[in-house]
Amino acid sequence: MIKKMIDRLLGKPAAASKPPFGKRRVISEKEHRIDHTLVDDRALNVVRTLQERGFEAYIVGGAVRDLLVGLKPKDFDVATNATPEEVKACFRRAFIIGRRFRIVHVVYGRGREHEVIEVSTFRAYLDSNDAEQVSGNERTSKKALSNMTHAVDASGRVLRDNVWGPQDEDAARRDFTVNAMYYDPLTGDVIDYHHGLEDAKKRVLRMIGDPATRYREDPVRIIRAVRFAAKLNNLGFKIEPRTAKPLKASVGLLADVPQSRLFDEMLKLLQTGHALASIEQLKTLGMARGIYPLLDVVVERVDADFVQAALQDTDRRVGEGKPVAPSFLLACVLWADVREGWHLRSAEMPAFPALQEAIEDVFNARIGDVSGRGKLAGDMREIWTMQPRFDKRSGSAPFGLVEQARFRAGFDFMRLRAEVGEVDEELADWWETFSTASDDTRVDMLQAVKPAPRAVRADGTPVARKRPRRRRKPANGGPSSGGDVAA
Ligand code: ATP
Ligand code: MG
Repeated sequence: MIKKMIDRLLGKPAAASKPPFGKRRVISEKEHRIDHTLVDDRALNVVRTLQERGFEAYIVGGAVRDLLVGLKPKDFDVATNATPEEVKACFRRAFIIGRRFRIVHVVYGRGREHEVIEVSTFRAYLDSNDAEQVSGNERTSKKALSNMTHAVDASGRVLRDNVWGPQDEDAARRDFTVNAMYYDPLTGDVIDYHHGLEDAKKRVLRMIGDPATRYREDPVRIIRAVRFAAKLNNLGFKIEPRTAKPLKASVGLLADVPQSRLFDEMLKLLQTGHALASIEQLKTLGMARGIYPLLDVVVERVDADFVQAALQDTDRRVGEGKPVAPSFLLACVLWADVREGWHLRSAEMPAFPALQEAIEDVFNARIGDVSGRGKLAGDMREIWTMQPRFDKRSGSAPFGLVEQARFRAGFDFMRLRAEVGEVDEELADWWETFSTASDDTRVDMLQAVKPAPRAVRADGTPVARKRPRRRRKPANGGPSSGGDVAA
């Protein structure tokens, strides 16, 4: 009591209200009725291996939640009392990753088919008032943090969370009650400390502990609340009012979270099959703006035909188990800016350099904060710069284009433009056929193209054909804008 008063006088944040550890309930297969055939063999193998070495090990988190409500989990996480080093020693291909939250990635298979099972060690519950406090953030206090296992910043945001503890404490530190259950696929038991099973049945998303404190400890939980509400909306899940109440007022806390983590969370909102539902949730919860600048742009543009089509397409692809690329979606979201800049500049210079300059401007204005992501930016650039090349259907250029590594992404982008009337459907159909045709058929197709289709402006409107102009050679030896293109 006296300590609390002194803390208050010193302006320290109020003691995090300690979440009750809850009473351990063991729920048998007969009651929870999980279909164990939905459990991934590799996750099963991780659990079995750890148990055979004498450790406790369970499938945990979202996979248990999904299994309980009859969904096929998209990934499997395992929780154990083995330390990261002990886990690593149990598997041939296992890597300790993370600083804020150290975990082990156990990897199965290679290439596109590879699967990662994330294994986390049970964490101890720690009051953030007992944690070591650093004055800066994870960047400015890197050195100080390197020796710390539990550290917070001045606002109570957790910067290091690497103190191991028992299972009941681990459960209390998880976010939602439905995400805090442990499933032993070998015995079939589910361990539940926070009435997660009850909440799953009642279709409630309830934060464990005091929601405002939990958002302060880790503001990313705000975005997670939106994501789960969107994902589980069709099953009738709602965010419990007490959990929802501090959400909007807590959005400002996200300003301190590293950009890269926010970027990843944004992608999870948009690329896990519930993009449109997530945007709906953001609006419903009064958080349409302020989570992350690029996400603001997505929300602003959700009703634009092209962005809407891109988001729908992404949701559909994820639903069908097909891969999706962040570069593609972001290229779609920012296309309006690129197109506008391209159009403006093409009055003064040839189409291709005009497009390149427009792209540079968009990167500077919109995604400076993820500039470290070289591959992402490179892929976006390639998708955009490929667009004028689709108009050139003569000579050897089309043969070169279909051989490009990123042809498919560029083509899918063009197909989407055709869907919203920005380019001719006929052009999209032609390239679809051309890309899979034999060389002989391709030659025939090129001959049949003549006369060239009417040129199309960067904004999609057709232009009356003029006498061919002499063009300057495109800069950087890049692709020509094509004789029939006016940007
Ligand atoms: P998804 O279906 O998207 O994988 P998930 O619930 O499994 O959802 P993960 O990010 O895979 O989410 O995390 C696994 C589990 O780890 C969560 O279910 C939750 O118990 C815990 N967890 C993850 N992130 C947090 C967080 N920021 N705060 C508290 N607990 C978290
Ligand atoms: Mg998961």
